[in-house]
Amino acid sequence: MSTYERTLADFRALDRKIRNYHEAQAILAWDLRTGAPRKGMDARSEVLGQLAGEAFKLSTSAEMGELLQALEQKEAQAGLGEIDLKLVHEVRRQYDRSVKIPAKLYEEAVVLISQSESAWEVARGNNDFASFEPFLDKVIGYTNQFIDLWGPKATRYDTLIDDYEPDMSVAELDSIFSSLRDELVPLSSAIADSPNKPSREFLNQLFDKGAQKDFSLFMLGQMGYDFEAGRLDETAHPFATGINLGDVRITTRYLADDVTSALFGTIHEGGHALYEQNVSPELAGTSLCGGTSMGIHESQSRFWENTIGRSRPFWHRYFGDLQSRFPGQLNISPEEFYRSQNTVQPSLIRIEADELTYNLHIIIRYEIEKMIFNEGAKASDLPAIWNDKYREYLGITPPDNAQGVMQDVHWSAGLFGYFPSYSLGNMYAAQMADTMEDQLPEMWELVARGELTPIKSWLTDRVHKYGKLKTPKEIIVGATGKPLDPSYLVKYLRAKYTDIYKL
Ligand SMILES: [Zn+2]
Repeated sequence: MSTYERTLADFRALDRKIRNYHEAQAILAWDLRTGAPRKGMDARSEVLGQLAGEAFKLSTSAEMGELLQALEQKEAQAGLGEIDLKLVHEVRRQYDRSVKIPAKLYEEAVVLISQSESAWEVARGNNDFASFEPFLDKVIGYTNQFIDLWGPKATRYDTLIDDYEPDMSVAELDSIFSSLRDELVPLSSAIADSPNKPSREFLNQLFDKGAQKDFSLFMLGQMGYDFEAGRLDETAHPFATGINLGDVRITTRYLADDVTSALFGTIHEGGHALYEQNVSPELAGTSLCGGTSMGIHESQSRFWENTIGRSRPFWHRYFGDLQSRFPGQLNISPEEFYRSQNTVQPSLIRIEADELTYNLHIIIRYEIEKMIFNEGAKASDLPAIWNDKYREYLGITPPDNAQGVMQDVHWSAGLFGYFPSYSLGNMYAAQMADTMEDQLPEMWELVARGELTPIKSWLTDRVHKYGKLKTPKEIIVGATGKPLDPSYLVKYLRAKYTDIYKL
């Protein structure tokens, strides 16, 4: 064994050890959210905090710094294979970010965020922004300290974006979002003025939760979700968690008065899970085994949920399977059902928004986050800014802050820079679908026949298998031949809703 081979083996072992800590955290966190006894939660939180601290120490250790440096020497680099080169690069990226944060400041931030999330939950329940404001103010303060330590990029907010969507910039997002906003605001108004609105009355019934679960499991199977490498459980908020390559779990939520909420939640999380289950096995157990960015991850969930799951061919194929699980309750045509699942209506709450107005909810949050970090907007300014933007972009005014500025958990948890990923996911998905239609000309006939395997394989070959071997930019260019272009999403939404609403 040469020196660099030994160094490489040590580096791989340390990376693996950190991954193992993360795996333990992921399984404990999953257990906390899927029914761990309430009385054990405090002790569990302590265990989780300690594991996170240990993993943080290992990933910022002097040993890690030395191993990285050694493997970055010319001679070592020449001997590394593609995967090891990328692994060194990815670990370096995370190391540089983490090592700049003093351990004491990191611990303070972790404590603050857990307090802030609790304060947010109570404040939202009581519609009491004043009690949450000091926490939000502090979270913004800590985030600003982190930006200073990480080093501001082109703008201060760029530094935050970089964490969730590497290589994306505020300048690029400004241009993408302004063209999206300019197209979607008038389209949303035209839809509001249309007399041809889908009927949703037949949805006002109660639907057996057991039958909903049965249908959700059936659809996961249709998508190609591997039940031997995962499971479906029930939680208040659906999520997917990749524990390791052979254990990617998802959750959903069954609502008796909504026949498709659990289904679309399941399909969405199933899309995330297909990504994590189909990363190339040679990346298993390394820091490259996972989605390359939040935006690309969301493209996979939204592709399945919206592009496929809210399409006409999908419902012409699967409506009978849904109908048969609720005898006598859905006496309508597949076409009527398809239309009912594609209503557009400006609304207050992001997570309940339709495919079109959803993007406007994101643009509002993006613009506000930019104001906070690039223009110095204060926590106390946010309710008024929020309400003004909802009036301007969606034509509605939140009646209170619980349904306005306090609706999302993200800011209380310091997740600034995360929101753009959701809309980027919609844009990546639309662009990939456009290419898929060219490369797989029978795509929609396949959906209409319920043969979804070739679609999953297309995504695995171009997205899933790479894990973090490619950057988001390399993924979208590799899959579609072009960098991200928001016009595909606009084209898709315009075509879909012009048809449904006869614009
Ligand atoms: Zn998602």
